[in-house]
Amino acid sequence: MNDTLQNWLTQQIGQLHEEHLYKKPRILEGPAGGRVMMDGKSVINLSSNNYLGLANHPKVKQAALESIEKWGVGAGAVRWIGGTMSVHDELEERLAKFKKVDAVLVFTGGFTANSGCIPAVVTKDDVIISDELNHASIIDGVRLSAASYKKSEGWVYEHKNMDMLEDCLKRASGFAKRMIITDGVFSMDGDIAPLPEIVALAEKYDAFVMVDDAHASGVLGKNGAGTASHFDLYGRVDIQLGTLSKALGVIGGYIAGSKPLKEWLINRGRPYLFSTAHPPMVAAALIAALDVMENDPEPMQKLWDNTRKWKAMLADAGFDTMGSETPITPILFGDEKAAQAAEKLLWEEGVYALAIVYPTVAKGKARLRTMPNATHTDEDLNDALQAFIRVRDKIGVSV
Ligand SMILES: *Cc1c(COP(=O)(O)O)cnc(C)c1O
Repeated sequence: MNDTLQNWLTQQIGQLHEEHLYKKPRILEGPAGGRVMMDGKSVINLSSNNYLGLANHPKVKQAALESIEKWGVGAGAVRWIGGTMSVHDELEERLAKFKKVDAVLVFTGGFTANSGCIPAVVTKDDVIISDELNHASIIDGVRLSAASYKKSEGWVYEHKNMDMLEDCLKRASGFAKRMIITDGVFSMDGDIAPLPEIVALAEKYDAFVMVDDAHASGVLGKNGAGTASHFDLYGRVDIQLGTLSKALGVIGGYIAGSKPLKEWLINRGRPYLFSTAHPPMVAAALIAALDVMENDPEPMQKLWDNTRKWKAMLADAGFDTMGSETPITPILFGDEKAAQAAEKLLWEEGVYALAIVYPTVAKGKARLRTMPNATHTDEDLNDALQAFIRVRDKIGVSV
């Protein structure tokens, strides 16, 4: 072992502890659901992205089991080397129909879909214009590219500020291509990107749009088809990213767009080119998850019923949910220490929700991030609300 490395690691970790930024996952002792066994305790889970309960839906589990019998458990290789299994192609065809696009390419995660797609579609002659609250995986994808993208050079606009976006586009006329990239649903605030305005500006200034629908997939639009569907912008968003890991309940990410986009990414998307395909059971489970989403409206209705209920209950009790419009419901505590204390007290009360503090969000905007989903009962939501009220009474809310 190299002492220089080991000492550096120990020192860095110590610093994380000091700054209260050290993360240690709790142990989930059963399936992801509304009420779960975690670290030996039964808690209401308000931190899961399993929006529709598909991660343990009987039809989805059955499809995975049958697929193991038929295909085994591994794909064996990268798709262009080892051959692509027909079940992987079938999933992409189903996704393309679902999204009403010409073609879809699946990556092993949403994160890798961003890092595969973004650097592949721009060169050093291009510019990428980003919303300041874009997800970390978008930021990493952008950094891997040869394009201009830096905030210090004026290519990052304030959150949803369309005047600033227009100003960026005006300054970007000298580049060969202009790319605008945004989350569809912002993962910490739960608000929705103004996609109609973004698309209109892109069309005016000859730019193309990429939207990351990780938190919109299965949540917004027809049967959960995402923000382009929600705003009826079919055919006007060049690149849509969706995850298969959140509402779809399994794992993976995909890029939806034109046939040439798919062909290009098969040839130039590095995580596609150099990383093994999903196990076939993943593709089979995802096809079953899509079947449920397209044929059973109930999980999405329940998700939105619970979302509306939860936001209304919190508002009645005087909590500030920061204008969130989707299941992602931040509850403002303001002060960093108050939010971290609230997280601990809620855990003691049997509620699992995480404090999100600076630097993930702005100073003084510390919050508890909560997400109701289709598997929560009225009792779960009521119990969680009572716990929030008791915790607020104990520590106070500073904003
Ligand atoms: C979660 C998330 C991702 C990553 O998706 P995975 O499938 O979990 O890798 C990408 N973008 C956004 C906005 C996300 O919230």
